[in-house]
Parts: sequence; structure tokens; C-alpha cells
Amino acid sequence: MEYIGGEQRPGCLFCRVIEHPDDKDAELVVWRPEGALVIMNKFPYNPGHTIVAPVSHVPGLENLDDDETTLLMRALRRTIDVLRSTMNPEGFNVGANIGRAAGAGIPDHVHLHLVPRWDGDTNFMPVIDDVKVVNEALEKTAAKLREAFAKS
Ligand SMILES: [Zn+2]
Repeated sequence: MEYIGGEQRPGCLFCRVIEHPDDKDAELVVWRPEGALVIMNKFPYNPGHTIVAPVSHVPGLENLDDDETTLLMRALRRTIDVLRSTMNPEGFNVGANIGRAAGAGIPDHVHLHLVPRWDGDTNFMPVIDDVKVVNEALEKTAAKLREAFAKS
């Protein structure tokens, strides 16, 4: 379960979309709260699979100071609320892959995966193997989430 940004580009994906809102990879950004970034995973494990990253380019959660940790957790909490109200999941997985050995695709910039879960959803990935279908679904979901974040 990790972010794969399509074609590999040099540098850090999160820093790039934080610094360049017009970058094409920024299309999947759904919210830019203070101190954090919320972006859809391009190859979702489940519909609504979202990534919450601190603005700080550091490899581990232990590298964040108290303020950065608070802002990250606040962003995560709000994202759970928004996913809950827009997609009605029955559960969530929240996790971080820290270090390449743990499966991190972007090991230099820590980030939290937030995956909405429904009963019996475990076969989503094998079913959706058409990239075009996935991209259209992603854009739709991203638009819906952006709208929900913009409201309250
Ligand atoms: Zn970075």
C-alpha cells in the first residue's frame, strides 16, 4: 500500500505539489491545511484512499516537532470526517510505511495513508485494473472531497 505517482520524476512528489500548485501531479490534491497536504493516492488500495503528509520534508514521524505533529493529526482527523460524510465507509485503515524496508515509495518524506473500508471490499484492486476507469474515478472522488473540504 504505497503512493506510486505514475511515471517517476526526480525530487519529492509531496514537496513538488506543495511548492507548485500548478504541477500536474497537484490535480489530486484535495486540501491544503496549515502545515499539511492531503492528496489522493494515484493507485488507490480502495476508493477514497488518501494520503496526509506534513509540509516538513522529514523521513519519520519522530522527526516532527510537537506543532507539526498537531497540525498533521488535525489534518488527518478532518480528512477522516470528510471521507466519512462523503463516502460512508464502515471503517478505516490508517498507517505509515516508514523506511524503504517497510514499503515506503517516498521514504524521505513521511506520510500517512488513510484507506476507507467497507465490508467485503478486499477484492477492489484485482477488479479495477483499467487505468482509465481508475483515473476517472479518482478525478470524480477528488472533486467531491475538495468540495466537502471547502464547505465547513
Ligand atoms: Zn518532500
